Amino acid sequence: MTPALSISDLRKVYRGGTVAVNDLSMIIEPGDFFGFLGPNGAGKSTTIHCVTGIATPTSGAIEIFGVNAVTSYREARRLIGLSPQEFNVDPFATPRQIVEWMGGYFGLHGPERKRRTDELMERFDLIEHQKKNFRELSGGLKRRVILARALVHGPRLLILDEPTAGVDVELRRDLWRYLQELNRDGTTILLTSHYLEEVERLCRTIAIVSKGKVVRSGPKEEFLIDGLEAAYLSATGAEPDHVAGAAA
Ligand code: ADP
Ligand code: MG
Repeated sequence: MTPALSISDLRKVYRGGTVAVNDLSMIIEPGDFFGFLGPNGAGKSTTIHCVTGIATPTSGAIEIFGVNAVTSYREARRLIGLSPQEFNVDPFATPRQIVEWMGGYFGLHGPERKRRTDELMERFDLIEHQKKNFRELSGGLKRRVILARALVHGPRLLILDEPTAGVDVELRRDLWRYLQELNRDGTTILLTSHYLEEVERLCRTIAIVSKGKVVRSGPKEEFLIDGLEAAYLSATGAEPDHVAGAAA
């Protein structure tokens, strides 16, 4: 079967010489819920930027459902929905506009775009908020708008870069439910998160990235033998005491 995402020997060196991604390879099977973990600065967002065309790879190959992400950028990008780590929206735009504009970008117009926007407002419980300014919304509501925007064109691969950072417990649970429904309906999901509990609950496959490389990957069950936290700490070379703040 053609992978949903295939990355081979991806390398990204920023101007100035920072090697953000250092020969990273990984494969995500269609239908998977894939957790992408690693410390700050490990290269997760840069990898996502290369996959979605925000950054140009220095070398290596990326295919989305068999489509080359660099040479067939437009076709590849249509297959992806992206919820970026930073909110990249006009703070004065309304949730409705934000979703409609992205629909327009992907070629949805007129009644079709209206119908799709209505559907997403309904699905993410945004109807009562759809005419407010984005900046007035709580962190959890903002995340839902960004998720709705990511889905407007019906992508087959949904990429979420730290979607629950700064989201309170209740709204995080809502987001989990939405993501599980989407995955059940066949959408492949790549999730980046620092919440190990969240990854353990949602993901079927996990990759841990450190210093621009995948240092460990496999089915979730393999990580649970010693516990995900222990696996994470040993794969990234962190000192448990340091991380837990327990050094006395
Ligand atoms: P993560 O998402 O895992 O926290 P990033 O991909 O954001 O990691 O960053 C990886 C490395 O690349 C870091 O050292 C970061 O400072 C650097 N970096 C990220 N974006 C840029 C950029 N636009 N220009 C230069 N360096 C960058
Ligand atoms: Mg990041």
